[in-house]
Amino acid sequence: MRVLAVGCHPDDLEIACSGTLRKYVEQGAEVYMCHVANGDQGHVIIEPEPLARIRAGEAERAGAYIGAKQVFNLNISDMQVNSHDQAAIDAMADVVRIAQPDVIITHDDGDYMQDHVETSRLAVNGAFMSGLPHRSVNYPAFQSFIPTFFMDTLAGVNFMPTHYVDITGQIERKLEALAMHESQIRWMLEHDGIDFVDMVRTCSKYRGFQCGVAYAEAFRPYNVYPRHSTKHLLP
Ligand SMILES: [Zn+2]
Repeated sequence: MRVLAVGCHPDDLEIACSGTLRKYVEQGAEVYMCHVANGDQGHVIIEPEPLARIRAGEAERAGAYIGAKQVFNLNISDMQVNSHDQAAIDAMADVVRIAQPDVIITHDDGDYMQDHVETSRLAVNGAFMSGLPHRSVNYPAFQSFIPTFFMDTLAGVNFMPTHYVDITGQIERKLEALAMHESQIRWMLEHDGIDFVDMVRTCSKYRGFQCGVAYAEAFRPYNVYPRHSTKHLLP
């Protein structure tokens, strides 16, 4: 099993699906993570350029802690993610050609912010592009139709899950990986009094309540042509 998770900002995958990604790793899957935006606007004091570098490092370390084989960074500035941008689609297609995933996990297409929604579309567009041989310059063509799951939204707002993954055994590592995004998590805790790790634990517990386990992450399939097969794709 090969898995590609595509998040917008460097900490989005840790928030929404890193328990599931860790569970995939523990089951022997090859997991690839990709963040599309570099998060360069995500701090009040640190300037965009150094912040992008700091956050790339945080994403690398958190991804390694989860057990990802590789963490891709498309390095697009915050609020500049555009799912119709040809260079961005080509870059995403190359990520898909390298990862060769059996399944893709990305943001819900009704998520709360523009960059998240554009990332969701970019993941789908890049996957489609990955199968086009005449657009495949750097790597051999892969395939255009890859089963895709949308991950939970922030605090679960406007998201109606159909699939749950029991992450009771992975919750602590998930939260530790999230805490590795120090420029965000520690900053919010020390300066704004917002305990983001506690919020994510609470949301994971809430999703757990819904499916009868201690902690869970929630998903729904992107139901377009061709529909998902009967193959079980979540761990
Ligand atoms: Zn985000």
